[in-house]
Amino acid sequence: MAKSEAAALRKLPSVDEVLRTAVAADAASRFGRSALVTAVRETLAAARANGAAPGGSDHVAAAALTRLEIAQRPNLRPVFNLTGTVLHTNLGRALWAEAAIEAAQVAMRNAVALEFDLGAGHRGDRDDLIRDLLCDLTGAEDATVVNNNAAAVLLVLNTLAKGREAIVSRGELIEIGGAFRMPEIMSRAGAKLVEVGTTNRTHKKDYVGALGPRTGLILKVHTSNYRIEGFTKEVSARDLAAIAHERKVPLVNDLGSGTLIDLARYGLAHEPTVREAVAAGADLVTFSGDKLLGGPQAGFIVGRKDLIARIKNNPMKRALRIDKIRLAALEATLRLYRDPDRVAERLPTLRLLARPKKDIEAAARRLLPVIAAKIGDGFDVAVAPCASQIGSGALPMETVPSAGLAIRPRAAKRSGRIVAALSMAFRRLPVPVVGRIDDQALIFDLRCLDDEEAFVANLAALAIAENADAMA
Ligand SMILES: *Cc1c(COP(=O)(O)O)cnc(C)c1O
Repeated sequence: MAKSEAAALRKLPSVDEVLRTAVAADAASRFGRSALVTAVRETLAAARANGAAPGGSDHVAAAALTRLEIAQRPNLRPVFNLTGTVLHTNLGRALWAEAAIEAAQVAMRNAVALEFDLGAGHRGDRDDLIRDLLCDLTGAEDATVVNNNAAAVLLVLNTLAKGREAIVSRGELIEIGGAFRMPEIMSRAGAKLVEVGTTNRTHKKDYVGALGPRTGLILKVHTSNYRIEGFTKEVSARDLAAIAHERKVPLVNDLGSGTLIDLARYGLAHEPTVREAVAAGADLVTFSGDKLLGGPQAGFIVGRKDLIARIKNNPMKRALRIDKIRLAALEATLRLYRDPDRVAERLPTLRLLARPKKDIEAAARRLLPVIAAKIGDGFDVAVAPCASQIGSGALPMETVPSAGLAIRPRAAKRSGRIVAALSMAFRRLPVPVVGRIDDQALIFDLRCLDDEEAFVANLAALAIAENADAMA
C-alpha cells in the first residue's frame, strides 16, 4: 500500500463520529438507526477496500445516506414506456383508469361486501359484482372471472374436456409467449388435443370428420400474435358454431385480447368484439382484462348459463379466482363502457391508441432540442415517423402511425455498441426510459409519453460519457 493511501485510511472517521453528524440524524429518522449503522459500516469498508480517501464524517454520512436511498428504491419501479408497444406485457400492459384506481383503493382500505349478499344477509358470490355488467356489454347469458385469460382457457378446457377430446385447427395452435402454448395447456387441463386441417388451411369437413363420441368441445383460438397470409382458409366462428351445435358439442372461442367496442371508431382496424363472438354462436368466449379492455389482469369467461355453472363448480375455479382489489377495478373499468362516447378519454389504453400522430410529432419536436443538448455532439437526433403496435396480441399486423425521436451515433465505428450503451444510460435514469433499438439507432416512440415535464426533469440525471465513443 502506498504511503499516501495508508495515511488516508488512518483518517477515516469512526462509526460513532459519522453517526453524530446532522446528515446521519436525518438518515436515522428516515431509515432507522440499525439500517444506518449497517450502511455507515459498509461505506467505511468500501472506502478501505478501494483505498480511497472518503473525506470527513459528513462525507461518509452522505455516502451512507445515498446507499440507504438506493437500497430503499422499490424493485417494481415506474418506467417511461417509449417502446411503441402500447400494451407491453413486460411493462405491465394496460394502465388503469382513474375510476379503477379509486375503486381499488376503497377496496384496499375497507371491508367490502365481496362475497356477501347485503339484501339477504348471507353469503354471496363474488362474480355477482360484475356479472350483469359483463352480460350487458357482451350479450352473453352469464359470466365469470378468473386470474387471467390463460387461467380462463385452462379452466374451460378442464371443465368441459377433461378426459375427452378438444378439436383445434392446426393453424391456431399458438404459443402466446412464455410457457403458454395451446397444446401444453390442453394436456395440463387433461384434454386430448385433436388437431385438424393444416397450418394454412382448415375446412369445415376437417372439423366434421374429427367430431365423435369422445369430443368435449371445439376450440377456436384467435391467432393473436401472427398471421398466415397467402393460400389460407379458416372456418368462420358462425360456421363452426353450426357444426358444433348439430352434434351438441360446445364451441369455445378464445379471443385473447377481445374488445368490448369496435376499434374502428378510433381509426384502428376491426378486432372482433366479444359481443360479435357471442352473437356468432360461441357457447363460451374467453378474453383478457388487461389487454384492449384496459383494466387489471383478469380472464373472463362469458356465455351459456349451464356451462358457466359447471365451470363455477370446478374446484379449480377457487384456485384461479381474483381478489377484491382487482374486482373493484374491473367493475369500475367495465362501467366506463356504458358511456362509449367518453370511454376513450377515460381509459388510458384507448386514449393512447387514439392519440393523433400530429400531437405526438409536436411532442417529438419539443423534446428534440432537450435531448440533443443532453446527450452532446456524439449523436444525431431527429424526429422520426414510427409505427406503434397495440401489443399483447391484439391486431398483430396492425400498426398505428406515430412519431418519435431517432438517436444515432455520429461515428460509424462501433455504432452498435455505442447505441447499446446509450440505451443503457437511459434505462439507468431514476425513472428508467425504455425505447427500442432499430438499425443502429435508439428509437423513442412518444405515443405513450404523457408527462413531458417529468420526462425532461428525469433527464437531469443522464450520465453520458464526454466522448460518445468512450461509452462503447
Ligand atoms: C393473451 C392471450 C392469452 C393469455 O391471456 P392472459 O390474460 O395473458 O393470460 C390466451 N389466448 C390468447 C389468444 C391470447 O392472445
